[in-house]
Amino acid sequence: MVEVFPYTPRKSQREIMQDITAVLYEKKHFVFESGTGSGKTVCVLSSTLKYALEHQKRIVYTTRTNAQQQQVILELRAIRKKTNDKRVFGVGMQGRANMCLLAEHDSEIINGTSEELSRFCSYQKKQTQSTKNKGCPFYRHFVNKKEQVETIVEWTKNNLPTAEEFAKHCNQNEICPYEVNKLLVHDAMIVIVPYVYVFDKSIRIKLLDWLAISDDEIILIVDEAHNLPEYLRQLFSAELSTWMLTGCMSESEKFGDPSLADGRVIISEFCKHLAEIVNILRDTYVYGILENGLRKKITQDYNDAFIPSHEFESEILSRFHITSKTLRDIISDLIAYGEKIQEYKQKDGKLPRSYLHKLGIFLEFWMNVEMDQYIKLVVDESQGKNPRIEGYCVDPSIGASIINEFHASIHMSGTLKPLEEYRDSLGLSKETSLVCYPSPFSLENRRVFFLRDVTTRYEDIANDKTIFSRLWQHISDICNTFPRNTMVFFPSYNTLSLFRDKGYFADITRCLYIEEQGMSQSELMGLVTDFKSCGSEDGAALFSVMGGRISEGTDFPAEELEIAVIVGIPYPKPTARQRGLQRYYDLKFGKGWEYTMEAPAARKLLQSIGRLIRDETDRGVAVILDKRAPRFHKYMNDMQESHHLVQDISQFLKTSG
Ligand code: SF4
Repeated sequence: MVEVFPYTPRKSQREIMQDITAVLYEKKHFVFESGTGSGKTVCVLSSTLKYALEHQKRIVYTTRTNAQQQQVILELRAIRKKTNDKRVFGVGMQGRANMCLLAEHDSEIINGTSEELSRFCSYQKKQTQSTKNKGCPFYRHFVNKKEQVETIVEWTKNNLPTAEEFAKHCNQNEICPYEVNKLLVHDAMIVIVPYVYVFDKSIRIKLLDWLAISDDEIILIVDEAHNLPEYLRQLFSAELSTWMLTGCMSESEKFGDPSLADGRVIISEFCKHLAEIVNILRDTYVYGILENGLRKKITQDYNDAFIPSHEFESEILSRFHITSKTLRDIISDLIAYGEKIQEYKQKDGKLPRSYLHKLGIFLEFWMNVEMDQYIKLVVDESQGKNPRIEGYCVDPSIGASIINEFHASIHMSGTLKPLEEYRDSLGLSKETSLVCYPSPFSLENRRVFFLRDVTTRYEDIANDKTIFSRLWQHISDICNTFPRNTMVFFPSYNTLSLFRDKGYFADITRCLYIEEQGMSQSELMGLVTDFKSCGSEDGAALFSVMGGRISEGTDFPAEELEIAVIVGIPYPKPTARQRGLQRYYDLKFGKGWEYTMEAPAARKLLQSIGRLIRDETDRGVAVILDKRAPRFHKYMNDMQESHHLVQDISQFLKTSG
């Protein structure tokens, strides 16, 4: 193994690589947790590459975000340098939205779905081939400038660029990066792709075609695996909003408003009624209930609610006096008419988007939803402006069954406990190896304290008005006492706003940075960079949220972060969606609370605390401001109660210099 591994391996890294190799020989699945900074990416790459080279396999490495691809390419370059083996060649693939040069300056096209972009591209290519001055110039160059394409291919094989570097290089040559990428994938030992390339069937088929291999020749790697179950739930869910129905009505105004199902309904009328039904469902289930025929307002803390499984379609049948058979005819007609609109737009050089087509597809989905794997919800997230109904998939194993077809799969994360939850959620076999590797960093380098006099538990705060000010007292004491970079993680933007609205933030005497909801990536990075630079001076405070972009994806080595304050336990809110999920896991595994409440909260806590220690020399102290913290002892067995918080922190920081 060491001949592939590009650094001097630590003992724990040797262990990880040995375990992975064993799993690859046994053709099994391997789910493991190893703390951030433990070097798991390079361990997984080294062991799978070595096996793949020796056994003529290929590796599909999946990441949730495009940004995570970069780290993989950097490690791959290190392995290439170490092995000096040209077969160590990998390609980062992204969707057309990020690679299509024709879409680059067209906001409509760039926001197309992968299916819409694929149709748009096919048509452009056809046009390029059949008509001299029409179609896509970047595709024309790809077809005509063979030598230039060859040079790009060679350049890529020699330099192992990141996806961004590769797209830029192609852009400079005015050749479509997506098409060149397809060529490169064929020769790549490893392709690095977003989850969608593996878990969306139609995209997966294309990828496997480009690779020209069968399923059982693939070793699948899932990075940041804790994200995969929810990703799959969302991928297999579908929704219909009143905003989309408005789009349908505009479309019928623009392209004609024919009748459907042999004249039984007119499109615009049909859509108008659907919008009314969605609004009524929202009024009934989210806002209030009917009692003796009168609407009674109920207090609603959350903006979603269950709807009876057949209520939406029953209401359609009753309003139009039609049967289920006629409704199915209407759906078929909507899809057919939507396709016509798509074709028309396509020929006009536009994105082939049709809301009527989407409506037909949604209704087809809604009528066929399996209620043992889905819940039906009505959701109102925008104060009544755009309510929607949603078929929410509670069973991610629907989309994960393909994993069983691969030679083997490796799933890794810095925070994946309980591993059984991940295995069960995805429906991986009981033979799947589950391993939690201990942190390679000394526990002496961190302290985790918790306090018993505070909590963010809703009922406690409602009954004891002093809890809020006590929470703030602890936060301000820590921020104002220690001239070290301190991050305060709130459970949500709402809670952060509650403290801000009370005017508390003015108490902070140190430089204060606040992460705002909806900040652009560049604004956020600017904020983080400014905060980090304070670490070498008097220290600053940064207020952020758990489960956000900072707590999950940003590194703060050494003095860039020394104290992390966790305000409360970040249990998911008991929305209807959350309750439905919990009920499903209770029925299927008898573990609703553990899998859907405790585990996500633990992951958010560990992700936030994980910002403190990134290597052997890092030291840091975390404080959990919640009396419920001991319930998470099994996830952090070094956690201890503090009775004199400021002294305890002071003591630890003194010993850390
Ligand atoms: S060939 Fe490339 S640049 Fe042209 S439309 Fe397709 S993806 Fe876009």
